[in-house]
Amino acid sequence: MNIAPDITDDIAFLTALRRDLHQHPELGFEEVRTSEIVATLLTEAGIAVDRGLGGTGVVGTLRVGDGTRVIGLRADMDALAMPELAERPYKSLVEGKMHACGHDGHTTLLIGAARHLAKSRNFSGTVHFIFQPAEEGRGGAKRMVTDGLFEKFPCDAVYGLHNMPGLAIDEIAVVEGAQLASSDSWYVTFRGTGTHGAKPHLGRDPITAMGTFLAALQTIVGRVVDPLQPAVVSACSVQAGNPKALNVIPDTVEIGGTARAYSAKVRDQLEAEIERLAMGTAQMFGIAADYRFERRIPPVINDANATARALTAAHKAFGDKVLTAFPPSTAGDDFAFFAAEVPGCYVWLGNGPAVDGALHHNTAYDFNDGAIGPGVSFWTTLVETELKA
Ligand SMILES: [Zn+2]
Ligand SMILES: [Zn+2]
Repeated sequence: MNIAPDITDDIAFLTALRRDLHQHPELGFEEVRTSEIVATLLTEAGIAVDRGLGGTGVVGTLRVGDGTRVIGLRADMDALAMPELAERPYKSLVEGKMHACGHDGHTTLLIGAARHLAKSRNFSGTVHFIFQPAEEGRGGAKRMVTDGLFEKFPCDAVYGLHNMPGLAIDEIAVVEGAQLASSDSWYVTFRGTGTHGAKPHLGRDPITAMGTFLAALQTIVGRVVDPLQPAVVSACSVQAGNPKALNVIPDTVEIGGTARAYSAKVRDQLEAEIERLAMGTAQMFGIAADYRFERRIPPVINDANATARALTAAHKAFGDKVLTAFPPSTAGDDFAFFAAEVPGCYVWLGNGPAVDGALHHNTAYDFNDGAIGPGVSFWTTLVETELKA
């Protein structure tokens, strides 16, 4: 693969930066130290810096030549609330927090690209380097958008990248269409009338209703959703009664779970069908039901045009090591909120073999520094191709 000499020269610096970030993990919206480092390095590179969107968010802007096209590149900065259990010289210094998803690597790659592009200036147009807080379920991307990200920094396209163990470090996957699922939560409460366990006829039993509801729940995926469209509905929590009071039928049962889909249509279907089953079951048993569907993260769906542009750059940087078919993930990424505003493309950067089987969100996971050169090359090639001088 082709890595520009001044990127190669910067790898020692970037590796040290990555390991420093790894040692000092910060959770979502708490990336005070990380965002300070990001802002300082961007400023030192001569890049205009905006701070405060989404709290700890940082946007660096580099304008070169008279090109009118504007693109955004996204990196996430947050770590996870979990202990790092593997031994390494740059192990997390913060108890109960670690970079187990490689966002330390993502931040480093985008800094590397910013430093290179500010020097080489081999493009014509505007790049916004978007460093977002709180990707891990805390809503950082959504908050940057609500805080006016795209009003302040309008973009013609936006690109995201995630490291992927299992792909070699000289490989990258760029695929049109669905990449990550929507991730929503649902809540059902069945409200009956509690009574003596020996006298069910004197009350209205919500537990029997729950049993019917849970048995019917999988008919949504099996009988309602198009068999060619993936979907997941899982009940993950049931709260009712008390194991120390086995002669009491409780008043209420609370059920909660997750729903995932790769299209807006199926997502709507899941929301409506879970409700229909809950309400129908309640009616069948003569009790009441409350329902709430909480839309957390939309699916990440790569735009055809943005994907074609990313693909051109990927081929330039990675030659024939570009995968154009790669299975989508049932996880979510709130990059979806950026891609909902402007055409977007999300790519998977190889991170080498999963060392000791450690994958994302594992207590032994570590971003592979061998991916720094290829990752920086992808970002810089994308800018130089997208905003051709
Ligand atoms: Zn993660
Ligand atoms: Zn991640």
